[in-house]
Amino acid sequence: MRIVIFGVDGLTFRILHPLIARGALPNFRRLSEQGSEVILESKFPPVTPVAWVSLYTGLKPAQHGVYDFWTYEQPTRKARVVTNRKGGKAIWNILSEYGKRVLVINVPMTYPPEPVNGIMVSGYMTPSASVSFTYPGSFKDELYKIVPDYRIDLESEDMLSVEMEGKVDRLIDATLYMTERRIELTNYLLKTQLWDFCMVTFVGADRLQHPLWDDLSSLEGRALEYFHLLDHGLGLILEQLEAQDCLFVVSDHGFQGASRSFEINEYLYKKNLLGLGANIRQTRNQARRISYLKHTINRIGLLTLTRRVARGVKTVAAMREKFDDVHEPIMADFDWEHTWAYVPSHSSFPGGYADIFLRQDLEEERLAALCDDLKRQIDPQSGNPLLSALYTTEVFGSGPYALCEPHLLLLPHDGITFRSSMGNKYLWDDARVRHDPRMRCGVHHKDGVLYAYGHGIKQGFTGPNAEIYDVVPTVLHCMGLPIVDEFDGSIIEKLFIEDKQPLPNALKRGATTNEFVQRRLKKD
Ligand SMILES: [Zn+2]
Repeated sequence: MRIVIFGVDGLTFRILHPLIARGALPNFRRLSEQGSEVILESKFPPVTPVAWVSLYTGLKPAQHGVYDFWTYEQPTRKARVVTNRKGGKAIWNILSEYGKRVLVINVPMTYPPEPVNGIMVSGYMTPSASVSFTYPGSFKDELYKIVPDYRIDLESEDMLSVEMEGKVDRLIDATLYMTERRIELTNYLLKTQLWDFCMVTFVGADRLQHPLWDDLSSLEGRALEYFHLLDHGLGLILEQLEAQDCLFVVSDHGFQGASRSFEINEYLYKKNLLGLGANIRQTRNQARRISYLKHTINRIGLLTLTRRVARGVKTVAAMREKFDDVHEPIMADFDWEHTWAYVPSHSSFPGGYADIFLRQDLEEERLAALCDDLKRQIDPQSGNPLLSALYTTEVFGSGPYALCEPHLLLLPHDGITFRSSMGNKYLWDDARVRHDPRMRCGVHHKDGVLYAYGHGIKQGFTGPNAEIYDVVPTVLHCMGLPIVDEFDGSIIEKLFIEDKQPLPNALKRGATTNEFVQRRLKKD
C-alpha cells in the first residue's frame, strides 16, 4: 500500500465543481465518482503557513508554533519570517521512523529541508533557489539535471505584474511554466524511486485566484488553463497507482470572492482600544483625506482619476507589505500605553480573517463589550453581518508554543474580508481588484477540499466536513499504521469501506508493536 498526497494551495469546490460539471476535469471527476469527497475545514486561521503545517503534522498552532508568516520577537515586537515549524512531527518524520520511503516535493513551510528516509525538496517560503533546498543536499544537482528550469515558486515580479500593470498573461504563463516543471519532477521521482509515500504541493490555484477570482469563478479567461494542467498532472499520477495504493487531494484552505472589506485596526482605534504614536497619526490623517477624496470621486464616476488616487493611498498607508527576513511590523508606531487590542499582521486581507492580539490586563467587561459589538457590526451596503465566527485563544490548541497573550480570531461572513491598515476614513469599503470596485478580490475561506481515492476508500461518497488536522491520522490509518502520537485531529472513518474501530489516540509506542504487526497482517 502506497499513498500519494496531492496538495493544492487554496483549492476550492467553488471552482472545481462547476469545472467538473462542464466536463473540463476528467481526472478530478474520476476522484469524485470513484472516490470520496469531503469539505476540509481550515479555520485557526485559514492562512497558508499555519494551514500547511497543521495539515502535515495533524497539530494545532500551540503544538507546532506557526501562527502566521511571522513570529513577533519580544520585547521589540519585530516580525521575523518563519519558514518551518518550531515543533511537532511531520507525517514524513513518522513514516521515516517506520522505515517507509518518502518523497516530499514542494510542500510549503519545509525550509530548511530535514533528514527523511527518502527525498525532500523544500517549497514555498524557501528564501531562494541559491540556498540548499533539498535533502539529501546532493539531490539539488540531480534535480536540475532532471528538470533544468525547476521553479520553487513564482518570481515576485510575476505576481506584482497583475496588480501594478494589469499584465494577466505574464502571471498565467509563469504559473503554467512552474507547474509543468513540478509535474515533470514528481513523475520522474515516482517512476525512478522506491517510495511508500509521496506528498507534492502545487501553489498555482492560490496565486491565480487572488487576483483573478472573478474570471475563474465565472469559468472564463486563460487562467482556467491552470486547472486543466493540474488535472493533467493528477492524471499522470493516477496512471502510476497500483490496485493497493491510495491518493488524497488536499488543500490548506478554500477560497472565495470578497467584494467588501472591514478596517479592523481603524475600528479598534475608534473603540479606544488602540493608541497611535505621532508618526502613524500623521500618515493616517493623510490617508484619510485621500480615502475621502477617493469616495467622492467614485460617486461622481471619474474612474481614471480614482485609480491614480488609489495608488496614492497605497503609498502613504501606514503599513506596507514586506517579505524581508525581519521588518518593522504594522504596530511599530503604536502608543502601547493606550493599546489593548490590535491586529499586527498583513495576512488579514488575503487570508480572510483577523487575529486580534489582546493585552493581558484588558478587563473582562471590556472584552465582552468588544465581542458583542463586533457581532453587531453590519455591512451598511449589503446588510450582512461582519462575522461568521468569533473564536477565543483556546482554538489554537495547547502545547509548548501556546500564545502568551489572549487573542480573538474573527472569520468574516462570505464576501467580506479584513484590512489591517490605518487611514481609511470608511470602516467599510470595497475589496476591489486592480482599483476596480466592480471586481471581487479572491481571499481565503475556511472550506477547502479533500478527495480520497483508491484501495479501501468508498466510491462516489460525499462525507461530512473534516478538518486539516484529520489528514495525518487518516493517512496513517489508511496505511495500516497505529496512531501512536497524539493529534489534534482524528481518523475520518467515514471515508473507508469497512467501518473500522478507531484506534485509541494515545497508545504508547512500545505497547503498539503487537497491534501494529496484527494490523499489518490483517491488512496485507
Ligand atoms: Zn494557501
